Amino acid sequence: MSGHSRDSWKRERKKIEEDLKLTRFSVDHASVSAFLVNSDAKILYVNEQACNSLGYTRQELLSMAIPDLDPHFPASEWGYHWTQLKNEGSLRFETLHRRKDGTLLPVEISANYVAFGGREYSWGFAQDISERKKAAEEVRRANRQKELILESAGDGIFGMNSRGNHILVNRAALKMLGYTSEDLMDRHSHSIWHHTRADGAPYPESECKIYKTARDGISRHVDDEVFWTREGSPVPVEYITTPIYEATGIVGTVVTFRDIRERKRAEEERERLVAELERSNRELEQFAYAASHDLQEPLRMVSSYVQLLARKYKGQLDDQADKYIAFSVDGANRMQKLIEGLLTFSRITSRGGRFGPVDANAVFAGAVANLATAISESRATVTKEDLPVVFGDEIQLMQLLQNLIGNAIKFRKPGILPLVQVSAAKKGEDWIFSVRDNGIGIEPRFHDRIFQIFQRLHSREDYPGTGIGLALCRRIVERHHGRIWIDSVPGQGTAFFFAIPAVPAERRDGPL
Ligand code: ADP
Repeated sequence: MSGHSRDSWKRERKKIEEDLKLTRFSVDHASVSAFLVNSDAKILYVNEQACNSLGYTRQELLSMAIPDLDPHFPASEWGYHWTQLKNEGSLRFETLHRRKDGTLLPVEISANYVAFGGREYSWGFAQDISERKKAAEEVRRANRQKELILESAGDGIFGMNSRGNHILVNRAALKMLGYTSEDLMDRHSHSIWHHTRADGAPYPESECKIYKTARDGISRHVDDEVFWTREGSPVPVEYITTPIYEATGIVGTVVTFRDIRERKRAEEERERLVAELERSNRELEQFAYAASHDLQEPLRMVSSYVQLLARKYKGQLDDQADKYIAFSVDGANRMQKLIEGLLTFSRITSRGGRFGPVDANAVFAGAVANLATAISESRATVTKEDLPVVFGDEIQLMQLLQNLIGNAIKFRKPGILPLVQVSAAKKGEDWIFSVRDNGIGIEPRFHDRIFQIFQRLHSREDYPGTGIGLALCRRIVERHHGRIWIDSVPGQGTAFFFAIPAVPAERRDGPL
């Protein structure tokens, strides 16, 4: 070898050694773990990262073999693995490494077969993939959760692509329509469960609301259609169709639906009951009206002849006879009042006046004027605050206030001058009127009963009356789409409240 070539060889060798040092340094300090393994799986070299991530010292690792680290590669399987590596040249796979503390580290291995100086090695690089695994697990969990929610939803859910083919069908949808997932997936919805309207008329695809949503992106709510079961029977449904958007635009629709047979049945039943109730109410009213009207005639006769008897024979028969006649006159008068009350009661809804704006201040003034005698006799004070204009039947509203103020005076407490206060306050959509007194009060257990017809809490001797007044009040308030109730402390006084909608009830659905 010439001096010149020896020098150049030396230089080259030095360079190679430096390169090797550099390489070794790089491998030693790489952020992936590096292992040099021989064909018996013995570890010949590890870098710093391998020691750090597994928690072993280099010395410890150099005395170990791959099966000591990787539970997926028991010694018995190593031969097979080695042959595979040799055949392929390199392998990439995920596995687990057991750390010194026993915990498992998910890693991705890239192993390369190297033959060198008549020996065989594997250079393996292990990348810690625990973060990636965790993220993937998160995604899997979130997906599973979404799937569970979809599967547990009570409503049927269909997902359709832009061609109208199913890309998702949940369990409730399958159950309600009796299909299996295979029946529907990738197939066209229109030909399967959405092909006629509720009346059986075929549904042209161009008018299909679901397709419309797929075209214009507008969500729709539909509750007058049917879907078809696999057996061929229609199910009345309510559904919402919403577009599925991606960056490129609308890519399909979601249809969420529920079977409304039960709801329809309940609605029909309710309508039937309401109609039935209205009919029987009308009948009852007619009956009450006819009975009280027709009773008036013979009663008038009894009453006038008994009065005639009283006038003509008073003092001419004995005392007993005078008493009997007086009882008869009294009975006839009372009956007259009851029948008049009944008639008024039955006429509230059948012969009520037209609704219009009514100034409650004027109504109050009218009621007080009608009660002038009772007010002055009892030396009652009747006050009012500013009252609103409401929408209703003026005459009936006057009857209502008159009854309540009249009762407040009638059921006064002995020894105290009666004070009656009328006011009104707006609450939500209602005007709430109140009529308060300082009278005898009403025990809580009677708070409902007093509104029933002919229900009284006192004898006629104590307080005159027929027991119709409050029944009449309730009927008037109900005709005005309102309600009436009381608050009372026995022995201290009573407050009657009634609520009337501030928005004219008549404009919503007309008077009863
Ligand atoms: P009537 O006044 O003819 O007895 P109502 O239907 O007007 O009949 O009243 C029913 C019952 O309610 C009365 O008999 C009375 O016991 C009770 N009541 C009504 N208003 C009051 C009031 N302001 N204070 C105490 N009790 C009352």
